[in-house]
Amino acid sequence: MAFSDNYDFELLKNEAEKLVVDELGKQLESCPEEICTCNECVVDMAAMALNAVKPLYRFSLLGTLYAAQAVNEQTDYADSIRDAVSNAIEKVRKNPSHD
Ligand SMILES: [Zn+2]
Repeated sequence: MAFSDNYDFELLKNEAEKLVVDELGKQLESCPEEICTCNECVVDMAAMALNAVKPLYRFSLLGTLYAAQAVNEQTDYADSIRDAVSNAIEKVRKNPSHD
């Protein structure tokens, strides 16, 4: 039996995902520029932004409350999410994920 079969790694959650997706939704809603919001482009933006920020893994049994608290304490982290998302939107706007 493989080591990974002995444990439930599904319990690991990267909270950055939720934060990036929430921020992406906010920024796209208020984006003044014409921008493609098809699934391909938006998921691409999320991937780009997520690669640019530090992951924020949590053991999900502890709940998301802890994560939310940690993020409030780390305003630098919230800033890095905002920057990463706006950079990702800009990149995909200039160079869409498809023709
Ligand atoms: Zn698109």
